[in-house]
Amino acid sequence: MGKKSKTIAESFFRVAHPSVSSTAPIVDTHTHLASTFEAYRHKYPAGEFTTVYEFVRGLYVPAGVTEIVDVWCEGPVRPLWREFADSAVTEEQRRDLWGGMGYWFVMGVHPHEAKHYNDAVEADILEAMAHPRCVGWGEMGLDYHYDNSPRPVQQEVFARQLRCAVRLKKPLTIHTREADDDTERILKEIVPKDHKIHIHCFTDSPAFAQRLLDWFPNLYIGITGVITYSSNTDTSTTVRNMFAPETASRLRIVLETDAPFMVPAPIYTLPAFSTLDGKGKKLPLCHSGMVPWTADFVANLLPPAEGEREGWDAARVMTVARENARAVYGV
Ligand SMILES: [Zn+2]
Ligand SMILES: [Zn+2]
Repeated sequence: MGKKSKTIAESFFRVAHPSVSSTAPIVDTHTHLASTFEAYRHKYPAGEFTTVYEFVRGLYVPAGVTEIVDVWCEGPVRPLWREFADSAVTEEQRRDLWGGMGYWFVMGVHPHEAKHYNDAVEADILEAMAHPRCVGWGEMGLDYHYDNSPRPVQQEVFARQLRCAVRLKKPLTIHTREADDDTERILKEIVPKDHKIHIHCFTDSPAFAQRLLDWFPNLYIGITGVITYSSNTDTSTTVRNMFAPETASRLRIVLETDAPFMVPAPIYTLPAFSTLDGKGKKLPLCHSGMVPWTADFVANLLPPAEGEREGWDAARVMTVARENARAVYGV
């Protein structure tokens, strides 16, 4: 098998968090299900799950995942979206195909792909917006870290998508990276203050997050597994600041994986992983069942509320984040 024998066994994807009971349902507010499943098939060509529905029923539902917001952000739009969305319309379909999990989606064009945005792409997105499982527009925004599309094009396409979404009153899924000033300016120019906004996978400066939270009362910060990485302290500071005495102490976050990327690091402290070594120890992809590991990390950042003896735990963070997910997306 050569190099392939290094790939970690599929069984390691069943990563139940020890402290989370079934009373804390998992809501993943941002995941790329098609690419997660494709990454899984690529890594495990002889894998147990051969369809996306089996993948969800076998891995997500037993882990306690009750809702996901799937993200389509390619330009041009991938026609596959319709198969997933159409298969989740009735309760019967969701029970039989998705194991009872609520499948929802958002659609937009990612800043990386902004150069591919045009009238035809917009028409396809507008069509998807009318689907009963569609709960928002995105991910869209600005990414000056990679600059995969020229910045003026990113800005124009971001503004154009925002105008459409605002007109349709659709919640916004925003991707912003190292573009604080332009993202803030464009959002404030176009989006009404009370609009519902999810700033997904937030990793930028805490001051930027605070300015957005202060301006938009229905804005939530999306927290992925990247908060657990030692290379990133800004996201932890952003969450802690929500509890600073001088600000409103409300946990305005939603939890997400952005799978297939960013496995939460604390997963590797599970005893099962201690039997492995070296490169074969790493999971090649992430999935929605890993949300509790991120929630647990968030809980450890938070002080007990005033007058409370009990502090935060993963289940409590997930419960609040679950309410916030409902507030933004209605899921
Ligand atoms: Zn993103
Ligand atoms: Zn994403």
